[in-house]
Amino acid sequence: MSIKVFADKCTGCALCVKACAFNAIEMKPREGTPKKLAVIDLDKCTLCGACVSACKFNAIEIRAEKETSGDLSHYSGVWVFAEQREGKIETVAYELLGEAQKLAKDLNTYVGAVLCGGENIEEEAEHLFAYGANKVYLLYHDELKDYKSLPYTCAVAELLKKEKPEIFLLGATTMGRDLAARLAIRIGAGLTADCTGLDIDKEKKILRQTRPAFGGNIMATIISPNNRPQMSTVRPKVFKKSEKKAGAKGELVKFKPVINPEDLVVKLLEVIKDESVKVNLQEAEIIVSGGRGIGDPKNFKLVEDLAKALGGAVGASRATVDAGWISAHHQVGQTGKTVAPKIYIACGISGKIQHLVGMQGSDTIIAINKDPDAPIFKVATYGIVGDVLEYLPLITGKLRENK
Ligand SMILES: Cc1cc2nc3c(=O)[nH]c(=O)nc-3n(C[C@H](O)[C@H](O)[C@H](O)COP(=O)(O)OP(=O)(O)OC[C@H]3O[C@@H](n4cnc5c(N)ncnc54)[C@H](O)[C@@H]3O)c2cc1C
Repeated sequence: MSIKVFADKCTGCALCVKACAFNAIEMKPREGTPKKLAVIDLDKCTLCGACVSACKFNAIEIRAEKETSGDLSHYSGVWVFAEQREGKIETVAYELLGEAQKLAKDLNTYVGAVLCGGENIEEEAEHLFAYGANKVYLLYHDELKDYKSLPYTCAVAELLKKEKPEIFLLGATTMGRDLAARLAIRIGAGLTADCTGLDIDKEKKILRQTRPAFGGNIMATIISPNNRPQMSTVRPKVFKKSEKKAGAKGELVKFKPVINPEDLVVKLLEVIKDESVKVNLQEAEIIVSGGRGIGDPKNFKLVEDLAKALGGAVGASRATVDAGWISAHHQVGQTGKTVAPKIYIACGISGKIQHLVGMQGSDTIIAINKDPDAPIFKVATYGIVGDVLEYLPLITGKLRENK
């Protein structure tokens, strides 16, 4: 961004001097005119725009300077970052590959996957072909065996600069979020985090990235028209895995990246797993979730009983987590986990948008709520209007009987 005063429009009225809260503007003599004109001290100016609004003569302008990635026609391919832990590719990579295939079809291009790891990681590449990658870029190096921010950033950034993909998708996981932000800065690309929808603007051939904004009250569609790759992170379970085609073949491109010594400042001594996290909500096929409507923390026992009878996991709304009724590992929604089980049972949950964005991809949604107008019923496949404390023991009892 830059700011400019147009000498031919400035009348020397000094309105801008009064408007500037940072004392960044002074009236000074200028060559060729007897008047004193506005001069901006760029060291003090914050580009807040108050002077632009104050000027009645349109004599001050702030311009956004376009930084572009040059000739955009040199970029092609929809790529996915294939996150791996302990040498195994995480499911989110296959979900991203499913979406990448749709985007690639609309752009008439190929699907690429980036896989980083140690010498043995090559064996995993076949899974990426099976889930739809046409090309797998294998970055292998001892320093890439486990995720470390700097070596990964250094290696992937070099690859992106060299191969020029048009779109690059990463999981909105701890690893993906860390890497995506660093890459975007290194290569000067735009990044939209936590997307819930992606599609191609067929006329302009650019990626439309949709995500909740302003506390989930609106869905914003964001574009990166001038820079490449267009980068997005997407949470696990937002997209569905594509069908696996065992034995599918593709092109394997291998690189042993040069990792800069200054990127090796962190040594990984040991990986200690957090064993306290026993809930694997994202992998559960059935989730029974409790909301504030259950009335009391002790009533989570009824939710747990139903989950147990169904062989499912326990979820929760943020209201119950914030109230300290259950741990945050169970929270479903915008600031919790995104889930897409076969069956999601919402018990005493109103269905505010921040909860819905985390579970509306479920195959079947069953809602129990005493308010017939509760928003949860808009997304529910089946609804029970009634007291959750009455229905939960009834349903669990019936299931136990039938077992
Ligand atoms: C930035 C931001 C992020 C957020 N992230 C999340 C998130 O990740 N996850 C999330 O869940 N929320 C999130 N929220 C909060 C969200 O807006 C709601 O406040 C929250 O989901 C409400 O939880 P609830 O449905 O349990 O409670 P309430 O909104 O209080 O709803 C309780 C429901 O229970 C029903 N009820 C009451 N008694 C009974 C009964 N006996 N039997 C049957 N039904 C009954 C009521 O009719 C009501 O519909 C977020 C909010 C913001 C601003």
